[in-house]
Amino acid sequence: NESLASYDPEVHAAIRAELDRQQSTLELIASENFAPVAVMEAQGSVLTNKYAEGYPGRRYYGGCEHVDTIEQLAISRVKELFGAEHANVQPHSGAQANAATMAALLQPGDTILGLDLAHGGHLTHGMRLNFSGKLYNVAAYHVDDTTYRVDMEEVQRLAVEHRPKLIVAGWSAYPRHLDFAHFRKIADEVDAYLMVDMAHFAGLVAAGQHPNPTPFADVVTTTTHKTLGGPRGGVILTNHADLAKKLNSAVFPGQQGGPLEHVIAAKAVGFNMAASPEFRDRQIRTLLGASIIADRLAAPGMAEAGVSVLTGGTEVHLVLVDLRESELNGQEAENRLHSIGLTVNRNAVPFDPRPPMVTSGLRIGTPALATRGFTEQDFAEVGDIIAGSLVPAFDDKVANRLRDRVINLAAARPLYPEL
Ligand code: PLP
Repeated sequence: NESLASYDPEVHAAIRAELDRQQSTLELIASENFAPVAVMEAQGSVLTNKYAEGYPGRRYYGGCEHVDTIEQLAISRVKELFGAEHANVQPHSGAQANAATMAALLQPGDTILGLDLAHGGHLTHGMRLNFSGKLYNVAAYHVDDTTYRVDMEEVQRLAVEHRPKLIVAGWSAYPRHLDFAHFRKIADEVDAYLMVDMAHFAGLVAAGQHPNPTPFADVVTTTTHKTLGGPRGGVILTNHADLAKKLNSAVFPGQQGGPLEHVIAAKAVGFNMAASPEFRDRQIRTLLGASIIADRLAAPGMAEAGVSVLTGGTEVHLVLVDLRESELNGQEAENRLHSIGLTVNRNAVPFDPRPPMVTSGLRIGTPALATRGFTEQDFAEVGDIIAGSLVPAFDDKVANRLRDRVINLAAARPLYPEL
């Protein structure tokens, strides 16, 4: 029982280097966050040793009394957080939550209708190479080519034309609220199930800062590690008892063997945190930060550099920067920001003329920096730094000055000082 440092110095050194990277750079990847130490403590616990196939009170293994307590806590807390009657906290990831939901509701060959990946949807919403695109017949809706908002008329038209058995509402790169009531109405008209994948915005929902899809959807899926700020993992929610049974059996034994009880414990801690006033304050700063960055990048000076913001702003935790009119492509912009200590990801924009490995966009998100304690003033500084990196005046001298400003911000808001 040696420490990691002495037992495996190579892995230990790489973990320390990653900690240093997280502490010394500014994380703006919209799907990332910093789990609190308490969450990581639960995840790094002896629960990793335990097999617990089945569900609390109905396990296929002995010795499950304590993991039952833990899993039941996670279930009760997440139900309370989102106002759901049933919850399955076992999916190992968001993708698996979606796979299990589709397996519960559909037969292979059935039709699903989801947002096109190139317009902000997720792989699991019907992408060709994903299980969802291979097992199911896929129809995809899009954003409108002038407003860049989901085209609900097209959703309605495709639903009537294709008669999907499942409509998926949710996104990985979209800066606005979806109209859940409208999706529900369309699903009812064509007798389809409605699944909302709130992986990205679940933390905002938990904090009352985004409409809650739970009353509208047959099934809601989410990850627990994005805005929600817990450990990596997935959850499935429903208000329908008959679906709850099908969903449980689709997760286990349908898709998974033993649940990750150490991760489930960490989820329980994360749900506890998400019910706190501090978490609400953090989500408010997350939204404020995103709108400050959006405003800065939508300013007139940026348009001259060919930089704009899709939909002109944001209502969520991310900003989609449109570089179609810029000399700079998504890859180059990502590299520039990386060179001064800002981590973002390039992202195709709808109707993107550049190839997917290059793209004409950036996705910039604020959840991780809000967790780090960033304030309105800090986010204004971040917006300024990003703006200064995306204009033609950027050169080595400018880069050095911007890098110093990043270092100052990182030093002023220390991350994981206890580690
Ligand atoms: N659903 C949406 C909308 C996502 O953005 C993601 C993650 O990127 C997922 C599902 C998948 O989550 P995971 O990476 O945990 O499988």
